Amino acid sequence: MPYPDDEQIMISALQHYVFCPRQCALIHVEQAWSENYLTATGSLLHNRVDRVEQETRRDVHLATSLRLLSHELGLTGIADMVEYHGESQEFDHEGLRIATSLPSRKGFWRPFPVEYKRGKPKDHRADEIQLCAQAICLEEMHGVTIKSGALFYGAPRRRTDVFFDEELRRLTREAADGVHQLVRDGVTPGAVYTKACEACSLIDECRPKQVGSGHSTKAWIEKTIKESLA
Ligand code: SF4
Repeated sequence: MPYPDDEQIMISALQHYVFCPRQCALIHVEQAWSENYLTATGSLLHNRVDRVEQETRRDVHLATSLRLLSHELGLTGIADMVEYHGESQEFDHEGLRIATSLPSRKGFWRPFPVEYKRGKPKDHRADEIQLCAQAICLEEMHGVTIKSGALFYGAPRRRTDVFFDEELRRLTREAADGVHQLVRDGVTPGAVYTKACEACSLIDECRPKQVGSGHSTKAWIEKTIKESLA
């Protein structure tokens, strides 16, 4: 069943959920946030992307900061960049509609999402899932099927193509369902310290070594204040 407008979640929440459900809950349920050096680096990269304006280079139209929406998955967000590749046909050889029309432009245009990331490709699929979620939004918005997109990593500067196969689409749907459940329940999962915590932008708020399993950060802060006043 389609999600109503007031139950949309941010596409970025999927990436947080796949990295760590607790991180996702801290950001999207408890609204904790930290501008540590990792997020700052990411912001710098995104600022550069945000300055790019819409333009058409030969047979590719570039749209930056495009608002996305999927009622099917209950997702919303902003795409770093969507390339619209000029196509001679609206349908591919399998009969799938792959290209759409664009306002004030002749012909057919195939959407191709591109997401900019700090660092290098990771050993989990969070970035691919976020990109796939963008593709699913674009599919719903344009009524097309999108077969691939790309991730652009900041260091080393590299562009990697991502194919939206059934497995990646399933993982994306599961992540979206997981975030919706987390938001509905309103309960932050307990902290479990792992190696990933050292790369987590919320380690100071989460305190995985001190809080332990089954407690919210809010509860830990309240307990610490009470103990300091006792
Ligand atoms: S510090 Fe670790 S447990 Fe806490 S939110 Fe980050 S990754 Fe999750």
